[in-house]
Amino acid sequence: MLPPVLCYHRVAGPMGLGVTRVARSIFARQMTGLARAGWRALTLAEFSQRVAQPAFPIPHPELLLSFDDGYASLAEHVYPVLADVGFTATTFLITDYVGRLNTWDVRYTWHRLGHLDWDTIGRWQERGFDFASHTASHARLTWLSDGHAAAELERSREALRHRLGPQAARAVAYPFSARDERIERLARAAGYELGFGGVRGNGSPLALARLPVYLWDVGRVPFGLRKDGLGWLARTVAHAANRCAVGTSVMLRLLPAPRSPLLL
Ligand SMILES: [Zn+2]
Repeated sequence: MLPPVLCYHRVAGPMGLGVTRVARSIFARQMTGLARAGWRALTLAEFSQRVAQPAFPIPHPELLLSFDDGYASLAEHVYPVLADVGFTATTFLITDYVGRLNTWDVRYTWHRLGHLDWDTIGRWQERGFDFASHTASHARLTWLSDGHAAAELERSREALRHRLGPQAARAVAYPFSARDERIERLARAAGYELGFGGVRGNGSPLALARLPVYLWDVGRVPFGLRKDGLGWLARTVAHAANRCAVGTSVMLRLLPAPRSPLLL
């Protein structure tokens, strides 16, 4: 069994950001809760070792925390919270948009938000945080020709390798979790060792599973890590949505509405 990989998009910021936004207070409570319960957050290199040796004996419960899209607010609201509890995380960057506004994303958020810049990324990398690829322009790779998909993967990997070194060039999270065998093959050919896709993997290191965390995750332990029925439900619904990037309204109908004061 591989350690679970949690996938967050946005923490804090306006409610209008949609279901992939998690409030800062809830995020801080989740991280403190996990740390107190003895969880350890892995570096990408440690996670990579677990992938290579799945039977590796694990003394503590472990997980990989991951953040997609690389919004600038991560450095303000997320990394300090993680550093406080001794956690690290891996952020998947859209390399063409580092230091720029989210013109690729306004369709979903209707907000102009900034992305992390290379200086800030470098400072957090020095503090033990990992960075990796979310492609060059957040393209849905499965819709692209071989040549275009390969270019998205290669350009992003080259920018990361050049700016941050080889350790930042080993992993990719596919935008919208859109992957198939062709994309896995192109990612491997581009030089990636690890690829993160939907809620279910297929056993390949280029098709690893992640559990998305949505705004209905208001408890101390994110649903994806819970063994009870609600955790199963969250995983199942996330699989039905089949993407890490944009949520679904199904859970919102099944669970208390996000008007709860907890979320404000
Ligand atoms: Zn994304």
